[in-house]
Amino acid sequence: MTAIAIWYDPPAGELGSNELEFLRILGAPSCLVVPGLDHSRCRFIVTLLHGNEPSGTIAVHRWLTQPRDVPAVDVYCIIMNIEVALAKPYFSLRQRPGRRDLNRCFREPFDDAEGQLAAALLNLIHRYKPESLVDIHNTSGMGPAFGVAVFYDRQHDALVSLFTERLVVTDLRLGALMELSDSEVPTVTVECGGSQDPESHQIAYDGLQRYVSLPQLFVAPDSDWPLDVLHHPVRLELDPALVIAYAEQSTVDADLCMRVDIEHFNFGEVCSDTPLGWVTARGWQGIRVVDSRGDNYRDKYLRHESGQLFPAARLKLFMITSNPTIAKSDCLCYAVRCAG
Ligand SMILES: [Zn+2]
Repeated sequence: MTAIAIWYDPPAGELGSNELEFLRILGAPSCLVVPGLDHSRCRFIVTLLHGNEPSGTIAVHRWLTQPRDVPAVDVYCIIMNIEVALAKPYFSLRQRPGRRDLNRCFREPFDDAEGQLAAALLNLIHRYKPESLVDIHNTSGMGPAFGVAVFYDRQHDALVSLFTERLVVTDLRLGALMELSDSEVPTVTVECGGSQDPESHQIAYDGLQRYVSLPQLFVAPDSDWPLDVLHHPVRLELDPALVIAYAEQSTVDADLCMRVDIEHFNFGEVCSDTPLGWVTARGWQGIRVVDSRGDNYRDKYLRHESGQLFPAARLKLFMITSNPTIAKSDCLCYAVRCAG
């Protein structure tokens, strides 16, 4: 079993002067425990499931090394994929080449290295029984921050509202950490925006400070900060054999060429006459638009006309990636149909 090293009450002076030094000092998956005012409860913050998503690590390092108040309850900061993040160039790999995405490993089988690491985190959760868990990520592309949860209720609403005003509620079950909400602890994913954007790091830090300092997380908020909630998105998946490009015009050797500014549509609405890119017959055959049961609804969401790709209805697209590798190994984007 891959271990997660536990470091109780780490002194600020021993954690390095920046996030890279911090990760080098830790060296392997680690859980840093900060004692709070109420030891009878604890909260988990997990980050770096993906090695190229630094905002959570930056926020945790900043919080642990700056003067701070004692948190309301014990706080467990768990930094996961340190080895992948430290592969050069730093923070460039989502996962080890040829290996599973760690955030798809929180269900059986647990038999490879990624599964073992996921199981080690599940063991910590079972042992310490946190009252909540927040998992901090960055989006693959640019775009605003949002939360993701498998339920929409007071608890998940409250956790996401600490970080952002957008919530995606999904019934997709992929083996992600947030699916713990099904059976155990209220868990949300926070996607802080692009990995290179300083604002993403600030969103992670500000949210973390609220998360650790509130005595009660799940009471009704004083001010109503209504969440923009998107229910049950579908995934736009691509056949890995396709050649994908992003360009200002059709690229002859690509099966699917997305417009180069496609990321600008993140969380905006696109109507059925907005071109999304260019597609060949082979490219069109290689697109799947799947719901949580894996059923393909491509023709309800997309259409093609004269070699161009359009929405088939008014859509809201999000988590759009402009990285062709991620587009093929994970998905191109998520979508919901707009009402009306
Ligand atoms: Zn991620």
